[in-house]
Amino acid sequence: MIINMLEGASEQHTRNVIESVRSAGYQPHVIYGTERTIVAALGSGGNGVQLEAIESAPGVESVIAIAHPFKLASRQLKPERTVVNVGGVPVGGEEIVVIAGPCSVESREQLLATARAVKAAGAQLLRGGAYKPRTSPYDFQGLGEEALHLLSEAREETGLPIVTEVLSTEDVDMIAEHADLLQVGARNMQNFALLRRLARMNRPILLKRGPSATVKEWLLAAEYLLVGGNPNVILCERGIKTFETETRNTLDLAAIALTKELSHLPVIADPSHGTGRRSLISAVSKAAIAVGADGLIVEVHPCPERALSDGPQSLDLAGFAAMMRHLSGPPRAIAGSAVTFRTQ
Ligand code: PEP
Ligand code: MN
Repeated sequence: MIINMLEGASEQHTRNVIESVRSAGYQPHVIYGTERTIVAALGSGGNGVQLEAIESAPGVESVIAIAHPFKLASRQLKPERTVVNVGGVPVGGEEIVVIAGPCSVESREQLLATARAVKAAGAQLLRGGAYKPRTSPYDFQGLGEEALHLLSEAREETGLPIVTEVLSTEDVDMIAEHADLLQVGARNMQNFALLRRLARMNRPILLKRGPSATVKEWLLAAEYLLVGGNPNVILCERGIKTFETETRNTLDLAAIALTKELSHLPVIADPSHGTGRRSLISAVSKAAIAVGADGLIVEVHPCPERALSDGPQSLDLAGFAAMMRHLSGPPRAIAGSAVTFRTQ
């Protein structure tokens, strides 16, 4: 339930509503908007008290049911968009934010060369995997703690805030000492122990969509972070499993538009994992922005043929610079009309 307070409601009115919500067996969650306060009643109540009766309490304008199972993530509760601050870079605001860097941190030279090049080309955040979720246990698993130190060094030199994946609850504290944005990988989207732990961290979270998760399941995973106390969540569409085998995954463009409609959280797209092919990254990035993505996360490597992970879907340094130049694309006329089509 959402309890909308009147614009002129006093603090005491809000406190009384919070108390009524609590005594009805719900968990109150207060959102102080620019114009009005909203009190959300979360949970299933349980002691038979009908919350609708609060409508007649002083200071209350209306009581409405939240239509979706994800409550705090829903736009019904918070119509204004959330802007997440990642080490000083706003994600979800007016500007598109590009995150770029190698799939895995492999060496000091590889990381620093990539960091310098992506910064020069316009990336605002640096990605780099230290702990890698690999399908085969025989594949490169990441440099671990050594990679975290290299990422910190790259941030010191370039000023780019760092994004890296957290695979397990044990590593959370150590990774948070180095990273500005903690990535929950697609395979861990429903690792509820990890989500609960990350909910208590004072660091923003990049929550990737699971390869076979529905939009509802994805938003419910985000809900674990929000209800656990972390409001700084960025969603990332990285492609889902379909019958198609020519691309590694199917980047679900409609899910980006839908998620922006259903939720106030920022949504970014990962065209590298979403396609598995470097030749498609530029085109799919434009499409993602056209449907409303707030940013991109792109894999870049100085020498993709020699990459220890995800080379075929990584751009080289010049390829990334070219992609950045071509992101907006020339406007095209719509046949039979004076209107032109623009991706931005
Ligand atoms: C990655 O970003 O390198 C990664 C492993 O992504 P995902 O979890 O989307 O597969
Ligand atoms: Mn990768």
